[in-house]
Amino acid sequence: MQIGYECPTCSAPVHLVDIETLTVLACPQCGTALEVPENGFVGDSSRHLARCLACPSHDLFVRKDFPQRLGVGIVVVGLLGSCVAWGMRELVATFAILFVTALIDLILYLLVPDCLACYRCGARYRGAGADGFAPFDLETHERHRQQVARVQELATRPPAGD
Ligand SMILES: [Zn+2]
Ligand SMILES: [Zn+2]
Repeated sequence: MQIGYECPTCSAPVHLVDIETLTVLACPQCGTALEVPENGFVGDSSRHLARCLACPSHDLFVRKDFPQRLGVGIVVVGLLGSCVAWGMRELVATFAILFVTALIDLILYLLVPDCLACYRCGARYRGAGADGFAPFDLETHERHRQQVARVQELATRPPAGD
C-alpha cells in the first residue's frame, strides 16, 4: 500500500510505499515522523485501512486515483481543438474532437483504480482495500472543514481576561 500526504510540519508532499511494513511515516524533507497507529489496519493481510495513518481521523472516502490536472488538461485540449475546427468551419471535425475527448475521459475513468482519501488531511492511499468505505460525502467533508475552522479560531482567539 502506498500513501501520499502533505507533511504537517513543512507541507512537503510525502510519498511512501509498503506502508503496512513501516512503524513510522517519515518526511524526507524535514524528518518529521508520524507514528503508524497500532489500530491502523484491519485483519491479518494488512491490506485494509481502519483509519487515516497521517491524522487521527477515521473518515476516509473512495475516489478515483486520477490526476485531476490530467483530466482537466484533456478537456481543455479537446475544447481548443474543437474551437479551431469550428473556426475552420469543419463541422464534422468539431464534433469528432469533442466526442473523442469525452471518450478518452471515459476510458481513463474506467481504467484508473480506486484509491482512498482522508477527509481531514487529504492523505491518499493506493492499493488499499476500499471495502467498507463510501464515496465522497459532502456532509462529512463539511463537518471536517468546520472542525478545522473552529480549531483555528480557538488558536487565534486571545485568552479571556477576568
Ligand atoms: Zn516535512
Ligand atoms: Zn488524515
